[in-house]
Amino acid sequence: MNVVIIGYGMAGSRLAAELRDRGPHIKVTVLGAEPHRAYNRIMLSSVLAGKVRERDVEITEAAGHGIDLRPGVTVTAIDRGARMITTDAGDRIEYDHLVLATGSRALIPPLSGLDREHLPERVAVFRTLDDCRRILATASGARTALVLGGGLLGLEAARGLAARGIATEVVHAVGHLMERQLDPGASAVLVRTLAGIGITAHLDAMAASVAADADGVTLGLADGRELRADLLVVACGVRPETALAAETGLAVERGVVVDDHMRTSDPHISAIGDCAQHEGVVSGLVAPAWEQARIVARVLGGEDPLARYRPLPVVTRLKAAGIDLAAMGTSMPAEGAEELSFADPARGTYAKLTIVDERLTGAILLGDNPSVGAVIQLFDRGAPVPVDRRALLLGRAIGVPAATQAESPALMPDAATVCQCNTVSKGALVRCWRAGARSVDDVVAATRATTGCGTCRDAVEGIVDWLSTVDSSEVAA
Ligand SMILES: Cc1cc2nc3c(=O)[nH]c(=O)nc-3n(C[C@H](O)[C@H](O)[C@H](O)COP(=O)(O)OP(=O)(O)OC[C@H]3O[C@@H](n4cnc5c(N)ncnc54)[C@H](O)[C@@H]3O)c2cc1C
Repeated sequence: MNVVIIGYGMAGSRLAAELRDRGPHIKVTVLGAEPHRAYNRIMLSSVLAGKVRERDVEITEAAGHGIDLRPGVTVTAIDRGARMITTDAGDRIEYDHLVLATGSRALIPPLSGLDREHLPERVAVFRTLDDCRRILATASGARTALVLGGGLLGLEAARGLAARGIATEVVHAVGHLMERQLDPGASAVLVRTLAGIGITAHLDAMAASVAADADGVTLGLADGRELRADLLVVACGVRPETALAAETGLAVERGVVVDDHMRTSDPHISAIGDCAQHEGVVSGLVAPAWEQARIVARVLGGEDPLARYRPLPVVTRLKAAGIDLAAMGTSMPAEGAEELSFADPARGTYAKLTIVDERLTGAILLGDNPSVGAVIQLFDRGAPVPVDRRALLLGRAIGVPAATQAESPALMPDAATVCQCNTVSKGALVRCWRAGARSVDDVVAATRATTGCGTCRDAVEGIVDWLSTVDSSEVAA
């Protein structure tokens, strides 16, 4: 079978590796518009913050293993009748099955002075490695920066710039930060935490215009104020890259519409990752993208032609040094829901749990929250919460493992998800150990745990440490 993947990003590269692992009977070609090999896009925040280098984020799992990888090639048309794609170089490539993994593009808001095709100097978006390089080039020598957008991406960009000693202001149109994940109470604590690390947040601030020149950039606000800085990062969200799919007549809504097998309205074409819309949802996160890649590989590889994608609960974590934030489920008040919250703004701590029918339907944990591991486990597994809710909220949970995952692996249930991005449970790590893995590197190579956002690294190291100290026969299967 001849499988062609359009998009050499996080989903496309994972699918190529998954197909290769299923044997040589599948010929895989991957075409990517970006000029370089795939990289861990999530880690661009850490590249911006100077915590990791570019070369550390390259994704090598699909490289050099009999897969035809073609970076720097944009697919310009799909001929579904002939099952053929055309590239910007004029090449035509046949497929038996085509997979769209075209991701998202940064959304440029319609502000006067902001042209999507030609961003003014000193202005950048934050989606690709080239965007990151552009920000870093402008940031060198900069003393002040503006970030338009106080969502997850905007705050990670702001943290990265602040970590470089740049006084950074975040401009957000809504009355509270990260409104998709946080409630106003959590945002108020976060604003204070940000102020402590050199980031000022302007809320309810509607941007109206951008004017940039060699000396700086001015952001005009709708209320007449003007903010000026050496650099502006636009982080106003993303839009699924669906143009090719729409042009070839596939069903497209917000994303390319797919069924449970990740098939589009054409059975010879699948879509995965940020560009796909499953059950009305465009996920925009890597864990669903990688799970979707696995499903398509199982279907195309013949291993399970009826494999179905089922979305898992999503836990969002801010990857910003000095700010511990985990949010999951909904922060919206629901009828009949129990809501418990605790705020200690002076210490930068906020915790909120939403419980329906004895189960967590949402949680926000900001700052020093000892129960974060236990809360994530309960949410992931849909397990009943302990009777003593106050202890769970404040970090002294009774009836569930009280310590974080890294601290108490022995108490963690096997079903607990340790690596959210790759959906790796504690049980999978234990099985891996039993099969002979004896180091963190062995475990990572076998399970891919830690290779997404990397926030589970401490937990994985803790489990490997624990396994090395106990007799493996003592470890429950
Ligand atoms: C800075 C940053 C931090 C993030 N942090 C997190 C996080 O902590 N957790 C999380 O879950 N997610 C995070 N995300 C989101 C995550 O990166 C995406 O969900 C993930 O990259 C989706 O993978 P994808 O392959 O669908 O899209 P992408 O990784 O965007 O890859 C799509 C690729 O397709 C290429 N392409 C598009 N059209 C064509 C064409 N016509 N021809 C050829 N190639 C084409 C694009 O150039 C691109 O390289 C973050 C994103 C950014 C930018």
